[in-house]
Amino acid sequence: MKIGILGAGQLGRMLALAGYPLGLEFLFVDPMADSPASHLAEHIVADYDDPQALKRLATECDVVSYEFENVPEAAANGLGSCALHPNAKALAVSQDRWHEKSCFRELGIDTAPFANVTNLEELQAAVDQLGVPCLLKTRRFGYDGKGQRRILHREQAAQAYRELGEVPCLLEGLVPFDREVSLIAIRSTRGELAFYPLIENHHRDGILRLSLAPAPRLTPELQAAAEAFGRRLLERLDYVGVLTLELFVVGEQLIANEFAPRVHNSGHLTIEGAVTSQFENHLRAICGWPLGATQLNGAVAMLNLVGALPEASDAAAHPGLHLHYYGKQPRPARKVGHLTLVAATEEERAGRLRAVEPLLLACDAFPAGLLDS
Ligand code: AMP
Repeated sequence: MKIGILGAGQLGRMLALAGYPLGLEFLFVDPMADSPASHLAEHIVADYDDPQALKRLATECDVVSYEFENVPEAAANGLGSCALHPNAKALAVSQDRWHEKSCFRELGIDTAPFANVTNLEELQAAVDQLGVPCLLKTRRFGYDGKGQRRILHREQAAQAYRELGEVPCLLEGLVPFDREVSLIAIRSTRGELAFYPLIENHHRDGILRLSLAPAPRLTPELQAAAEAFGRRLLERLDYVGVLTLELFVVGEQLIANEFAPRVHNSGHLTIEGAVTSQFENHLRAICGWPLGATQLNGAVAMLNLVGALPEASDAAAHPGLHLHYYGKQPRPARKVGHLTLVAATEEERAGRLRAVEPLLLACDAFPAGLLDS
């Protein structure tokens, strides 16, 4: 089978790396010539809504998927009878925070209190209703904490709205969360469902830096509550592929923040840390194959390499550390690789993280103090 993928970044590259052993072929579309997946797969250099590129995808591929959520509507609808997974509805809901949060609400999935904002009067009324502190987020095109402003006093609201370009926004109450977790959920064309154990995520400056799985102190009740949310969402959207649900944990309660209609950075640890990786399971799901087992292989950690890379030979000196370099030039705040380690226990994992930390601090690829938080 041949799989078309819109976007040829590191997620696409890891999809191809998971798919080749399964006998799959790939065709990528990305406007950037030197993108991570282009180093190892056939690649059309074109805009995502380029009619010629879409026609080639539709003709040559059995199924088309994507590795980022801002796929233009023209691309989602320009593939004729060729299947797109996840479908255009899942894309449309995930691209707009108002639709996304409204979908959560309809499904009884808990969220922060929220209000739609299309002008300054609505914003002031929403701030009065939700109270401060609160967060103003653009409805579209926000990622890694971009496109949002914290409002601490009512008087700051107008300026925050101006700074975001006075585009349609969502105002959200601030959730006093204890920690952030993600649920990687999968549904296949056959309707088969699978879920990985919850992953705990640590960010700096809005960028994911460290993921731990299973999330420390994970209880069966918390896992079941997350899976119940995931199941409702997958079924309502008639979803096929991997979906990542980002959640806040407050005490024993889960509050949904957003979902990504794709494989996710926090799930990179499933490559070595689970029986079947998120990438392989996404491919199995969209090809209509049975899903692979989602059990973890131990206490797993993933360290993102952001803005810099240690020498591969230095990283390789740590036994059992798995290296993933994406073939990208390091630039500030750019995700250029990740490392995974699989330990027998949480204690062993903590010790091995400590042992790797100096290597990453020395080249500025990892923030100081994060392991203490
Ligand atoms: P987002 O762009 O929605 O993924 O938000 C980026 C980050 O901002 C999240 O990972 C949280 O750390 C924080 N955040 C977003 N929404 C809220 C909220 N309602 N309350 C508290 N923190 C939030």
